[in-house]
Amino acid sequence: MTRWHWTVLSDGWTEAHEAAAISGGSWFEKVRFHATVVLLEHPVHGRVLFDTGYSSRFFTETQRWPYRLYRMLTPVTLTEPRGIIEVLRQRGIEPESIHHIIISHWHADHIGGLRDFPWARLHSHRQAWDSIQDISGIAALRRAFLPGLVPEDTAARMQWLSEGCDVFGDGSMTVLELPGHAIGQIGVRFVDTTGRPVLLAADACWLSKAFREMLMPHPITRLMHDWPVYRGSLSRLHDLHRHEPDLLIVPCHCPETAALMP
Ligand SMILES: [Zn+2]
Repeated sequence: MTRWHWTVLSDGWTEAHEAAAISGGSWFEKVRFHATVVLLEHPVHGRVLFDTGYSSRFFTETQRWPYRLYRMLTPVTLTEPRGIIEVLRQRGIEPESIHHIIISHWHADHIGGLRDFPWARLHSHRQAWDSIQDISGIAALRRAFLPGLVPEDTAARMQWLSEGCDVFGDGSMTVLELPGHAIGQIGVRFVDTTGRPVLLAADACWLSKAFREMLMPHPITRLMHDWPVYRGSLSRLHDLHRHEPDLLIVPCHCPETAALMP
């Protein structure tokens, strides 16, 4: 098993009250939630992205109603309007060198950059993909999904992942199912170049404090979550955290994750 080098990147953020993200959180304190993208680099498998951030397409796709409601509910600030593709270029990384994209789930803040990588092989959970087929308007919005972000040839480029999948066939990266926030949400687990085990946990929780202390989000977010399933995934992270203290669990939007950006 070989190890992965990983870098946290982002092209933008939204803000929300801490109280929405964790029970007992403050209604006065606003937290900046970066849409982080993780660049994974491996000596054999090359470069892989875990999610793709917002890109300016988030704005073009939310101009029309009812999608406009999305940006009203979560006002987005882009730090790099040209998206993660430009963030990569600024780091001297040719976007063409990204051969694989793992899509944790199909919410707009995770798939905004998909169209910038038309050559990449895509990886996602089948149930996640199925859950966004043939939905638009309010039905799509309820799933935080913007259909225009999905390239037309996506199905043909897809490789399906599920619990325990060995993504590259050499044991270097395995899949965990973490549903509840979204149907078929997945995380991946690997060992990094320093020897530390890492779990990219997507949006199984918004703040790391949530898995450390087993804090569910505010009930107001029940509207978007499958509550018991969410609790199951969070409890899984909480147990992993307790039994494997060395494991670095990385929620996509936690400020602790954004603090890892170079
Ligand atoms: Zn998200």
